[in-house]
Amino acid sequence: MAKIYSCGALRAENAGEQVTVRGWLNRRRDHGGLIFIDLRDRSGLVQLNFDPQLSGEAHTLAGETRNEYVLAATGTVVLRPSGTENSNIPTGEIEISVTHLEILNAAKPLPFEINDRIEVSEQLRLKYRYLDLRRPRMQRNMILRHKVVKYMRDFLDARGFIEIETPILIKSTPEGARDYLVPSRVHPGKFYALPQSPQQLKQLLMVSGMEKYFQIARCFRDEDLRADRQPEFTQLDLEMSFIEREDLLQLIEQLFIEIVENVTPEKKLKFKPFVRMSYDEAMDKYGSDKPDLRFGLEFVNISELIKDSEFKVFSGAVAAGGQVKGICLPGCANYSRRELDGLVDYVKQFGAKGLAYLQLEQNGDILSSKSPSAKFFSSELLNTITTLFQAKAGDLLVFVADQPEVVANALGRLRAEMGKRLNLTDPEELAFAWVLEFPLLEWRPEENRWDAVHHPFTAPIPEDLHLLDTDPGKARANAYDIVCNGYETGGGSIRIHRRDVQSKLFKLLNYNEEQQQERFGHLLNAFEYGAPPHGGIAPGIDRLVMLLASEDNIRDVMAFPKTQSATDEMTDAPSEVDQKQLDDLHLKLVPVEQPQK
Ligand code: ASP
Repeated sequence: MAKIYSCGALRAENAGEQVTVRGWLNRRRDHGGLIFIDLRDRSGLVQLNFDPQLSGEAHTLAGETRNEYVLAATGTVVLRPSGTENSNIPTGEIEISVTHLEILNAAKPLPFEINDRIEVSEQLRLKYRYLDLRRPRMQRNMILRHKVVKYMRDFLDARGFIEIETPILIKSTPEGARDYLVPSRVHPGKFYALPQSPQQLKQLLMVSGMEKYFQIARCFRDEDLRADRQPEFTQLDLEMSFIEREDLLQLIEQLFIEIVENVTPEKKLKFKPFVRMSYDEAMDKYGSDKPDLRFGLEFVNISELIKDSEFKVFSGAVAAGGQVKGICLPGCANYSRRELDGLVDYVKQFGAKGLAYLQLEQNGDILSSKSPSAKFFSSELLNTITTLFQAKAGDLLVFVADQPEVVANALGRLRAEMGKRLNLTDPEELAFAWVLEFPLLEWRPEENRWDAVHHPFTAPIPEDLHLLDTDPGKARANAYDIVCNGYETGGGSIRIHRRDVQSKLFKLLNYNEEQQQERFGHLLNAFEYGAPPHGGIAPGIDRLVMLLASEDNIRDVMAFPKTQSATDEMTDAPSEVDQKQLDDLHLKLVPVEQPQK
């Protein structure tokens, strides 16, 4: 009896064995009398050899096969003749001399080839996602994702966490995005919301005494999509009772380090332990609350130095309450006029009025610059500035002068872009960091109210609690984000667990008593029945796997993602439904002038 093997499993040690393999025809080569087929399954490729002398029947059948036919082949494992081994694949030392072939199913010519070199549009890939997923790269990504999630489950189980499912049909919960709504058939005019996250439910589980909860949770947010955002995505949702911030940071840091070291050991962790910085520091040095720390290019603030400068672009910005910050781009002093204009245009997209620059060159003992704005700087001032930037001849200093938010955004985007252009972003490196002490609230002038920066269940850090009464904008949140290579890979907080504090926060967000009861009554009531202190976090699994897989789009680590415009190319969702379904749901459609896809 032949033993069944996966295609990629056979080695020289198996020589002489009778085996059966099953899979897809990856490639067929006819060589005179012999036919060779590379058979592929999830585990890899194996070469089948059909010799008419050995089995005329199998050989004839092999001649009828085409790409992607599904085959079962039985034969003997033999060593390949010396000189014909293929060191590129693990099964390259052997082949199977086939005595029996069965065609399990035929396949039409495919819309694209199954290999990692093909360049076809993403739309076509998504339309035929089931074929796209046959490609080795996508198979590798799916397997990696499985391993990461399994690691999480085992790690948390070993530490006393229990996995609890929470419902998908819930009441709308504010996480800052738009809800997906589901109309109720039984209750005309009423709607469920799909969870933006299980936030309130996991907090209620803490009130239930579950103590350590986690869930691989699907979350739904109806927002504009980007490369790192999908309408539905998966989080490792987690909550713990009787803990402090430090307990959570340690737990998640340990989990992430272990995942990298065990699941993707080829990746390099830049920081161990992870770097920690406050939100203020991140904004001040990198202009972003999720900075890419694989490289420096830190901001230098020269506002004080140039506040009395003749250069009105700079001094004027400072006088108007703004600031002047710059970064040093190593070796970029020789940029052409066009390249420099390109940088100026780049920052203008993000609200900056312009970008001032100094091209540094060696002039005897000192650094000087012939840039247009250089004439406003004495050699002494230039010297001080270049020392602050630790700049050298051949470097380019670029500056944005504006209000702090504009400087942060424009210069932060430029920093991230230049990190890539200057090849400072090693794709094998992971620079994890914690960003702490976010502001609790931000002011929404157009609505004349405060809004929660994280979500309204986040507690202020204990010493800032009193600020809720006096100066809410100054209160810092007991919240933390974990960031990596310019992405937010998770966020969480210590929660409010006292009813009076939660009510006070809701009031700041402009919910009156009645609205509080109506929207959050369940939580407020629960807080009156012995709610333990608690906190949690929710790392994003798609983004984490994307980084571990060295992909730059989360769609490549999701089996069936949506397009950038939230459609499913394969099933054609969203789509129209029958009138009967609408009637059942008590829905009437209003015609729209331009149907949106
Ligand atoms: N529910 C939060 C989120 O989805 C995470 C948390 O605070 O645990 O961002």
